[in-house]
This record gives sequence, structure tokens and C-alpha cells, in this order.
Amino acid sequence: MQDHAPLSCASVQGAVIPLYVVEPDYWRLPDVSRRHWHFIHDCLIELQAELASRGAPLVCRMGRVVEVLEDLRRKFGHIALWSHEETGNDWTFARDRQVSAWCKAHAIEWYQIPSNGVVRRLKNRDGWSALRDKRMAEPVILAPYQLSAAMDVPAGSIPSKDDWMFGESVQSVQSGGRSEGMRVLDSFLKQRANKYMATISKPGVSARHCSRLSAHIAYGTLSVREIEQATKARMAILASDADPAAKSFRKNLSAFLSRLAWRCHFVQKLEQQPSIEFRCMHSAFEGMREPHFNQDFFEAWATGHTGYPLIDAAMRSLHANGWINFRMRAMLVSFASYNLWLDWRQTAPHLARLFTDYEPGIHLSQFQMQSGVTGINTLRIYNPIKQSMDHDPEGKFIRRYVPELSTVSDQWIHEPWRLPEPPPNYAKPLVDHETAIKMARDRIAACRKVPDFIDSARQVRQKLGSRAKQPERRAKVIKDKSQLSFDM
Ligand SMILES: Cc1cc2nc3c(=O)[nH]c(=O)nc-3n(C[C@H](O)[C@H](O)[C@H](O)COP(=O)(O)OP(=O)(O)OC[C@H]3O[C@@H](n4cnc5c(N)ncnc54)[C@H](O)[C@@H]3O)c2cc1C
Repeated sequence: MQDHAPLSCASVQGAVIPLYVVEPDYWRLPDVSRRHWHFIHDCLIELQAELASRGAPLVCRMGRVVEVLEDLRRKFGHIALWSHEETGNDWTFARDRQVSAWCKAHAIEWYQIPSNGVVRRLKNRDGWSALRDKRMAEPVILAPYQLSAAMDVPAGSIPSKDDWMFGESVQSVQSGGRSEGMRVLDSFLKQRANKYMATISKPGVSARHCSRLSAHIAYGTLSVREIEQATKARMAILASDADPAAKSFRKNLSAFLSRLAWRCHFVQKLEQQPSIEFRCMHSAFEGMREPHFNQDFFEAWATGHTGYPLIDAAMRSLHANGWINFRMRAMLVSFASYNLWLDWRQTAPHLARLFTDYEPGIHLSQFQMQSGVTGINTLRIYNPIKQSMDHDPEGKFIRRYVPELSTVSDQWIHEPWRLPEPPPNYAKPLVDHETAIKMARDRIAACRKVPDFIDSARQVRQKLGSRAKQPERRAKVIKDKSQLSFDM
């Protein structure tokens, strides 16, 4: 309700019907899961109470959005639709087009108001950053104090967390809802951010010192603008404190602000090019991995049985908690895409279902980037043994999630297959890292040899690439085909 321009604007026009539609077809998609529903459910329960206290109870319906809207139109005659602009997957985009067609057919106005820093109808990225910054500086809109409800609209009921419609049962750890989002933000800004950058890549401790706001942002319990402004306010207080700890805290918050901007940057990619859900950003990589898909490799990766301890611990911890840090996400994708040569279109839905914070714009862009199919990013191939030694040196995280290795000493925990007698109940490595990545590099280099590779990469960059780096540097890098690299 806070910083919700559509609700605020609608409420000054007259009576409102705050509507949530549970769409059964949506819940059958491969990239959604009960874990998402659990988070949404918490949000709806709190929203229901909040809206009721302001005079217009939440109305919950089940079915197709157009049919639900048509029922309301028949009942009330003239209505108008107010919503945020949303950047979702192909399915939600198609649904929005149906809603738009329905609005046209019935001369109904649909007011869509931007949310966060994603800008609609941009042709390319020139000037995007300034537009985003301007939006982030606009005042946060306060929740309407009093709402006037439309008469005789039954509230309907919110399906339970256990409803069969939401797929396989799952353990959910992260709670949703506005008050939980505020609590998480407050503890991050006041305490937890003190070790943000020092621990951001450490799988054992990052869950405490990262903000953990991603799911709240994805489902809208907090807006990016509110978070950004609250962070800047906290930074201003810290600036007047001479204590070195305050200076270090401030630096951490500054790094956090950059990531909030990255979020908008990545979602902007999907907004500008919805086809990235299905096709590689750079067409030269189409067909590169698809024919080699290995179901056994996929299952071993998806369940955490690859024989690489950190990979398996990261995947199993994700099954248990629904969240893991950026580096572990990137490493899991790198391992699937380079070591196991699995196509990102097969692996992305699996992680989407496991992430409580699934956000298609970030997810798809990151998957393509970490799989080397954008044509505009440096190849980032993670060595799972080095990552393990660097970020879990004593193997504490590994032992927590891979009990088969609980008795293995620190010396062998990163490469248990090198023990004279490896633990019998732990998988042997599916592939040899060095051999697998050599093959991956060779195959990628072959795809880059097509004659128009650089021209196409320039077009991708022009449309979707960040403008963060100096133009001279970009121009220099692009000359060398093997290193073709812009960032993001
Ligand atoms: C393969 C892959 C898939 C990912 N899928 C998702 C996803 O579905 N949803 C999602 O929210 N994030 C995704 N991320 C980005 C990132 O890992 C998470 O945003 C972050 O780990 C969430 O934890 P946090 O809120 O504590 O992050 P913090 O480090 O506290 O960052 C604050 C916020 O900034 C944004 N952010 C942080 N890192 C990134 C990044 N690298 N790119 C874009 N935005 C970022 C997020 O909104 C995050 O909540 C993905 C990363 C990878 C490598």
C-alpha cells in the first residue's frame, strides 16, 4: 500500500476494489512453485487486514483475469483499471495483452504506472540510468489513509498455503508481508550491513549479512525507491559520525545501493527484449548446447549429487532455505552450463522454482550471462574447488549440507575423491573440471567465429548493455574477439 501510485490515484477517483486474482494456469508454469505462493500468501494475509482497516477490503478471486474483470464490469458498468507496469515472464505478458484487448473492446481506461526503475518503450540504454535516478529521488507516496469500498463485492477467500493448486509441497523459510519486509530492512540498515561486503560471497554467513530484501522487492512489499531513500538517510546519519566503523558501514551501504541499481538494470533487459526468456541474447549461441542435454547430469546437479562438495552443498541449501548468495548462484549456473554443458533453458526454471525471490528479469539475464550466451560479457567460469577453498575454507558449510562428508578432514573436504579411501556414500565427480571447461571454451570459441559475431554483439550491447563503463575502454575491448567484453 505504501509507495503505491495506482492505489493512491484510484482512491481519489472514487470507490476502489483492491483485487488479487489467483490464476490457476499461472501456477502450472515450469518456473513457479509453492515456495512463491507461501511468500505471496503471507503478503495477502497482511494486506487483507491493512486494507480492511482503511475501509476497502481485499477482494480475492480465482480464474482468468479477463473473466474476473468482465464480471466486475457487468456488475458496475463503468470501471477503470489501475495497476503498476510489470515486467514478468512471457505468460504474464500474454495475459496483460489479453487484458489490454479487453479494455479496448469495452472502452475501459487502463492506467499503468511505472514502478521501480524500469522504463517502458525504451529503444536503447542511452540515458536510462539518469531516468532511473530521477525516479528514485521522487517522494515516496504514502498509503491512502481512508479508502472508499465499492458496494456489494464479496471478499472471496485466499486459498490456503497447502492448496493442491500450488504444486509439490516444499519447505519455506522466508516469511512475506510488509511488516516482515520493514523488519528486515531495519535490521540490515542498523546492524547486519556491517559485514555486507566482507561476507557477501561466503555461503555460511552471507544469509545474515546480505540484505535479504530480494523477495520483498520481487513481490512489492517494499519499493526499491523506499529502500534506496531509507539507505541514503542512514548513510547521511553515518556521515556525521567520525568512528571508523561508521565509515565502513557507509561503504557497505554504498555497495548495496549499487546492487539495487543493478536490479533495475537487469529487469530492464527483459522489459526491452521479452524474447530472452526463450532465445540467447546473441544468436550465434543458439543450438550450441541443446543437442547435448544429458538428463542424468541434470538430475545430479538439480538434487546436489555432482560429486563437487561446494556445488552440492549450495544446491541442497537452496532446497532447504530458498535463498543463496549471488556467488553461489553464479557458480551453480556456471557448473551446469560449462562443466555439464546443460542448456540454460533447462536449468533456469529449476532454480526459479527454488528461489523464493524469483524475478524473471534478473533471473533470465543472469542465467544468460553466467552461461556465456550474451555475446557482450566476459566468460565467467567458476572453478568449484577454488571457490570452495576461498569461501568455505574449513568446509563448515559443506558439512552442514552434505552429511556424507561430515567426517572428512579440512584437508580433503574440497576434493574428497583424492582421499585414498573416498567416502563410499558420496558421489564421484561427474566430470573432470579441467577437461570439461576446456571443451566448453573450445565450443564457445567455435561459435564466436561466425563472420558477423562482433556486429551482432554491438547490437546486443546497444540495446541491452550497461552504459556504466567509459566508451574508450569499451571500444578497445571489442576489437579483440576472444575477449569480447562489456560489463553487464
Ligand atoms: C543465476 C542467477 C539468478 C538470479 N536470480 C535472481 C532472481 O530470480 N531474483 C533476484 O532477486 N535476484 C536474482 N539474482 C541476483 C542476486 O543473486 C540476488 O538478488 C541476491 O542474492 C538476493 O539477496 P539479497 O536481497 O540479500 O541481495 P543484496 O546483496 O542485499 O542486494 C540487494 C538487492 O539488489 C538486487 N541485486 C543484488 N545483486 C544483484 C545482481 N547481481 N543482479 C541484479 N540485482 C541484484 C536484488 O534486488 C537484491 O535484493 C540472481 C543471480 C544469479 C547469478
